[in-house]
Amino acid sequence: MRTTVTHVHQEKGLTAVEVGQSIFHPRGGGQPGDSGHLTKIIPGSHQHFRVVDTRSEAGRLLHFLDTPTLDLVEGDAVEVVRDEGRHQKLTRMHTGEHILFGALKRVVKDAVVDKVELDEHESSIFVKAADDLSIDHLIAAERLANQIVRENRSVISHHVDKGSVHEVDGVRIRPERIKEDTVRILEVKDFDKSACCGTHVSRTHEIGPLLVTKFNAVKKGYYEVRFKLDPVDDLFLFADISRRVRALTNFDYGDITYGIKNLLAERETQKEKIRELSANVHVNITEETIDGLTFAYAVFPGINKRDFIEKINAVNKPDTVLCFINAGERPQIAIRSTNSQNYGAAELLKQLFQKIHGQGGGSPQLAQGSYEGRKPEEILTAMRELLQ
Ligand SMILES: [Zn+2]
Repeated sequence: MRTTVTHVHQEKGLTAVEVGQSIFHPRGGGQPGDSGHLTKIIPGSHQHFRVVDTRSEAGRLLHFLDTPTLDLVEGDAVEVVRDEGRHQKLTRMHTGEHILFGALKRVVKDAVVDKVELDEHESSIFVKAADDLSIDHLIAAERLANQIVRENRSVISHHVDKGSVHEVDGVRIRPERIKEDTVRILEVKDFDKSACCGTHVSRTHEIGPLLVTKFNAVKKGYYEVRFKLDPVDDLFLFADISRRVRALTNFDYGDITYGIKNLLAERETQKEKIRELSANVHVNITEETIDGLTFAYAVFPGINKRDFIEKINAVNKPDTVLCFINAGERPQIAIRSTNSQNYGAAELLKQLFQKIHGQGGGSPQLAQGSYEGRKPEEILTAMRELLQ
């Protein structure tokens, strides 16, 4: 499109350009502004300026250039070229967002859109909902949204006076955000109505398949729902994951969720059992004398951590350094001293961890920590060396 520059100004280090005619759409309602370029037509040569954003400010449609310039002035003849691929993708994304949220609202009645961040690759809808939103809700909404897309419904714009917008049945609108007297209502035929100033397709089929890619609870009652269009790569990725899970677990596809739920429940029961059993584990405490001091030690077979500490605290013997080892999957060590003036537990643990790498700490009376890849005998030998 050939037109003329009607206004140029510098704003926060950027050059903003207004032209006589433009098909660029400004940012708004979560949709980014169009990008593309302006080509200054000079006899014999052309100069290109890249447009990275378009905004509507005080009645002007401003095209923001990627680098500031003084080479473009009022009256210059320019060719306006929009990035058509990006514009089309954002248009499809935006309409997809209306449908996905419309579908979510049918699944979770009290859901409200807080904000939308559209992007040509992956978009986000931030949703408030008093009831907990679950992946089951999202999958149901995604399924309904794709059904609406496939039904190829028409997408229609209605213009309504702001004063009578509340008469439009079921419309999603935030009147406080609308400055104009006339409101544009976007309707996905017989499915969803929403006040919107963005760009949209005319039939839902143009959107194509829509996939919810991520779902996060940002905080209680506030969720981010991410989605993509043209999701073949992501579908392959998700298929890879489910095939690997099937290979690992031997569960059939239909049973994976059920099977993993069962495994988790079983694991909880087993943890509970281990807790019960570990309270009753009896291990002999061996005593040695090193330079007049009693060194007592015991090795436990990976019992519950709380029981392990209770057991070392239960020993009541003066002038003794105790070293208990809990040789489980993630081995633990506890050192207790009843002669803490001369043998501080935390200090002994610190010196021990200089010999064998580990992490932990405590007081002169009791210290505890964890380590990796050492046999109990190695720990005890190191302890004996420290006490000599
Ligand atoms: Zn819209």
